[in-house]
Amino acid sequence: MIKLENQKITPIHFIPKFCSQCGHPLEKKFIEAESCERLFCFNCKTISYLNPKIVAGVIAKKDEKIFLLKRGIEPQKGAWTYPAGFVELGESVAEGAARETKEEIGLDVRVGQAIGVYSYSDAGVVVVVYRAEVIGGELHTCLETSEVKQFGASEIPWDQLAFRSTHDALNDWLKLEKEIE
Ligand SMILES: [Zn+2]
Repeated sequence: MIKLENQKITPIHFIPKFCSQCGHPLEKKFIEAESCERLFCFNCKTISYLNPKIVAGVIAKKDEKIFLLKRGIEPQKGAWTYPAGFVELGESVAEGAARETKEEIGLDVRVGQAIGVYSYSDAGVVVVVYRAEVIGGELHTCLETSEVKQFGASEIPWDQLAFRSTHDALNDWLKLEKEIE
């Protein structure tokens, strides 16, 4: 039996206290059909499922160097990663990646091939990272981004990267670059 307490979830994923359908407080209930505990609304009899959120990002290259940003907010404030953020309802994952890139660093990108999908059992997100080509825009920083800088393949700040997925996606990007050369 899977107990809710045993599900390790990152802080990014809050546990809802109230039913999203009717606002009644949620309680734990063992669901026979699923052989596990779920958050359940005894008022409208709805199960609240806890699922990972989708994050989309790009590794965009221009003049043989990629764009990384220094995070201006927690988590991992001050560490480097590529532009990425939560996909919204009403957009595709690739569209979300392009929108986040525009918002965070100001560049318009044409989203290309997926580099990989980064998912870990103890993380509340699934990260999809694409290659991208810069087609316009002007670099900027914002509240979420304290600095934007271009790095060559040999200049990636491996010891100052923000997340496991940042590290893994950059590694896969490097492998792809070597295959394409
Ligand atoms: Zn309800």
